[in-house]
Amino acid sequence: MDFQLQKPRITPINDHVWLLNDAYNCACYVVAGADKAMVIDTMIGFVDVRRAAEALTGKPLICVNTHGHSDHIGGNWAFDTALMHPADLPLVDEFLDDPEVQAVLGENKLSFPGFRPVADSEIFDLGGLELQAFHFPGHTAGEIVLLDRADRILFTGDGIIGHLWMQLPESLPLSAQIDSLRRIRPLRGEYDVILHGHCTEPETAGLYDAMLDAILDLQAGNTVNDEDYPWHDRVSRAHPYGDCWKIVYNP
Ligand SMILES: [Zn+2]
Repeated sequence: MDFQLQKPRITPINDHVWLLNDAYNCACYVVAGADKAMVIDTMIGFVDVRRAAEALTGKPLICVNTHGHSDHIGGNWAFDTALMHPADLPLVDEFLDDPEVQAVLGENKLSFPGFRPVADSEIFDLGGLELQAFHFPGHTAGEIVLLDRADRILFTGDGIIGHLWMQLPESLPLSAQIDSLRRIRPLRGEYDVILHGHCTEPETAGLYDAMLDAILDLQAGNTVNDEDYPWHDRVSRAHPYGDCWKIVYNP
């Protein structure tokens, strides 16, 4: 694997929130308060996210991962500490145990940070701007979403996303995703925009409503429109809904 640093594509969401994309359409967000800035996810690993976020904000940074998948934690090497829900630590171990990853990190003198656990309902005060984390198990056991009430944005990683992957070995049953969606239903009036882990532009909050309807429909066995969904060397099923969205699952 060649390791070559890339410049991110940067899209301002407002005057203190930015979307960064790498060449693989993985997303990272930088949210600046008066005192500190939060980096939410770090993409696949070829962008120096710390440098990019410092250039945008000039503030001390907190790096928070929405979950433990490699296309979200890949750029954590730029930080001394990163936060994540502890239920996803086994995914980090799996990633770092990969000999190819070890070789790239070793050759480039990069190392991964220590991880501090994110607690459910934890509030991060960035100075005049707070983000609150909510545990959201489903896509993975340690997925979190983060609510920025002042900006009316919900950051959702891969937990609320157009293509929801629930077919992975580490994904929980569909019922867990339903429980997570229901648990955050009281927040529904507090955001207008969803920024997920593979956005190239903001998604509307209506994705939440459409996903909840669709996954309840799927759980009820209404699968007549479902289709095969090949990925890597396997074939799962996809439940289409809404605006070209899908829930991918194993029957
Ligand atoms: Zn993921």
